[in-house]
Amino acid sequence: MTKRNGDLIVGVWPLAGFDRVLHYRVPATLASEIAEGVLVRMPILRKQHTGVVREIDPLPDYPREKLKYITGIVHPHPVLTPDLIRLAEWMVSYYAAPREAVVEAMVPAPVRRGVKSKVEKFLRLGEVVPTSEEEEALRRRAPKQHALLAFLRQQLKPVKKPLVLGRLGISAQSCAALVKKGWVVEEARTAHRAAYVDDFAGHELVAARKVVLNEEQQACTDAICASLETGAFKVHLLAGVTGSGKTEVYLHAMQAALAAGGGVIFLVPEVALTPQTVGRLRARFASRGVEDVVVWHSMLSDGERMDAWDALASGRARVVVGARSAVFAPLPNLRLIVVDEEHEPAYKQDETPRYHGRDVAVYRAMLNRAVCVLGSATPSVESWVNATSGKYLLNRLTRRVDDRKLPVVQVVDMRREILKRRGSTTLSDVLVEALKLRFEQREQSILFINRRGYSSSMICKECGFVAECGHCSIALTYHRTDETLKCHLCGDETEAPHRCPGCGSPQIRWRGFGTQKVEDIVQRILPAARVVRIDTDAMSRKNRFRELLSEFRLGKIDVLVGTQMIAKGLDFPNVTLVGLVDADLSLHVPDFRANERTFQLLVQVAGRAGRGDLAGEVIVQTFTPHATPIQFGRQGDVDGFLEEEVRMRQQFGYPPFRHLILQTFRGPNAEKVAFFAEHWTREVVKLAGDTVEIRGPAPSPVEKIKDHYRYQVWYFTKQVTKFNRQLATLRERFPLPDDVFTTVDVDPASVM
Ligand code: ADP
Ligand code: ZN
Ligand code: ZN
Repeated sequence: MTKRNGDLIVGVWPLAGFDRVLHYRVPATLASEIAEGVLVRMPILRKQHTGVVREIDPLPDYPREKLKYITGIVHPHPVLTPDLIRLAEWMVSYYAAPREAVVEAMVPAPVRRGVKSKVEKFLRLGEVVPTSEEEEALRRRAPKQHALLAFLRQQLKPVKKPLVLGRLGISAQSCAALVKKGWVVEEARTAHRAAYVDDFAGHELVAARKVVLNEEQQACTDAICASLETGAFKVHLLAGVTGSGKTEVYLHAMQAALAAGGGVIFLVPEVALTPQTVGRLRARFASRGVEDVVVWHSMLSDGERMDAWDALASGRARVVVGARSAVFAPLPNLRLIVVDEEHEPAYKQDETPRYHGRDVAVYRAMLNRAVCVLGSATPSVESWVNATSGKYLLNRLTRRVDDRKLPVVQVVDMRREILKRRGSTTLSDVLVEALKLRFEQREQSILFINRRGYSSSMICKECGFVAECGHCSIALTYHRTDETLKCHLCGDETEAPHRCPGCGSPQIRWRGFGTQKVEDIVQRILPAARVVRIDTDAMSRKNRFRELLSEFRLGKIDVLVGTQMIAKGLDFPNVTLVGLVDADLSLHVPDFRANERTFQLLVQVAGRAGRGDLAGEVIVQTFTPHATPIQFGRQGDVDGFLEEEVRMRQQFGYPPFRHLILQTFRGPNAEKVAFFAEHWTREVVKLAGDTVEIRGPAPSPVEKIKDHYRYQVWYFTKQVTKFNRQLATLRERFPLPDDVFTTVDVDPASVM
């Protein structure tokens, strides 16, 4: 650094609700620790705040006396690596989000608050193993050292050094002698580490057996490794049918990135729902001497989160697995980002900053000249268009491993079932017979129904009263387990009435069905079977999901009934029947992605069947058997569906051919919301001209949530950042009243 006259000056992004850089002096004692991205403490007015160092020495000639001093450094490692700083700038302009919200999404709360992590020494067995002669010699000449070695052999995980030495009465020198020979390894770990390591050990840990890649897997792995070697930014779309061994390809690519000294981020839609994938990663890399895989999930305590973060920032750990926010892990030398199930809407955050984890992954890989691998059996239309246009590289796995058959999908026309039985029916004859057969053969079945609860609505036969939520514009769902009516939007619940609240008649009817009812029906059909329901209602306890999966794997459960939360990445060899009880649920939704979602659900669900040596059967119930996604889904024709869908999107100028930006206005007063939405939209029309196509304002498909009325405006544009700037300018001179709120969602995952 050049010689300055006086103290160093830094520009800081404050985490205190100011959307601009503030300048401070750095006292000489802290100057050596200052770097871009470091979190510092500093005063604003009379209060202490924290902020991230954004610029160093930006004002060489500024009169220093006018500036205040920063008062401390919160964490020795930068909380934002240089690439994260640039990523933040991009997110601010692309997602129209306040800078502070972006930084808060990137830096976990305990890190921002400066929670300290405590480093302790741990011992474990080394990679070097003594020969039998050496072992014998040790036993005779240094029995204590031998005892330590024997003790460590019995341990499944590293143990705290002071604890063991104390208990076995061994000196530090004796221990050092073993370390020197490589028989024992001493490593620094943070105190809470054990917690997040153990959390995913055990239950679903899959043995780290080496598999020999098949030809297709090898070709995909080679392609990705070739990109890694070039050191250029590349995106690969790994489109592989369910059970084709995508995870194995990821693992090989990760090995290559690690061997080259790089860091790896592995994103999954939701950690709690993908214990098998996490188990496989841990099993593979824990044995490589790389410090364990950091599992980043929502259940971490502050201390655990701090330690997990510190392990990554310090470079002690180079692999992180987690849901979307793991894309911001502060890895110093990021080489590879894997986004598993890249089509999943769960990657989109539904509060500010409303970023898409997959898209951020691609951008971050670009900033690092790293490789990004997007994997799915049912690629999103967005990624498909990028891959077929040559922007991404397309790698395919067309066969299941060991050439296992893709399951046969049978579509049942529920209109006929109703005629046959003269009334409503939940499970068709075909599905009932299939369930019975599997049970007799001691094989397992899974039924999917994407609605929780028992019945989807309560209707009075006398007066037509429908029980709706008092705060939202949807019908209440009947939950029989606790005899309540629940709102699935706001969570409000009331006791289920026995008489109509409108006219007092006892003639109440329940319509539609959810997981609870399906569970009941299956249990009645198969009284001797063990039927278990998995949905968020049943998952109140932390490890319940993993326990149930273990029981299912061990064959203790015959039929699983669940929402699509159980459809993700599960691999059970003994499942031979999968039923999709109502394929129409996601189809008749006023969203341009309804077809895509329905197709994806169908194919993913079907993919859970026939993963072992037994062939699988899939039964799909629908009232619209000829709908496009159901027809293509039945054939498992991913290319066919995507071609059709791409054609539609292109014809209507829908994403990804133009970006969609969704602006929502909401507030307790419907007229006021409508008035301001309309007024605003007229201003936007004047401002944006013909670079933007505007639709609306119109009431949102869900008109009311939590007592707020909602209106939406759609903007179609090819220039997101430019349009965002125009919106921001307008916002500055367009005051909204206190009770009208607005949000902007770029590339929304849902338009409801
Ligand atoms: P996908 O993610 O494509 O659905 P997985 O990676 O889960 O598929 O693989 C399905 C199963 O096949 C897993 O149990 C996996 O261990 C196994 N597998 C993957 N590749 C091979 C291979 N080359 N040889 C044998 N088994 C394999
Ligand atoms: Zn009534
Ligand atoms: Zn509600």
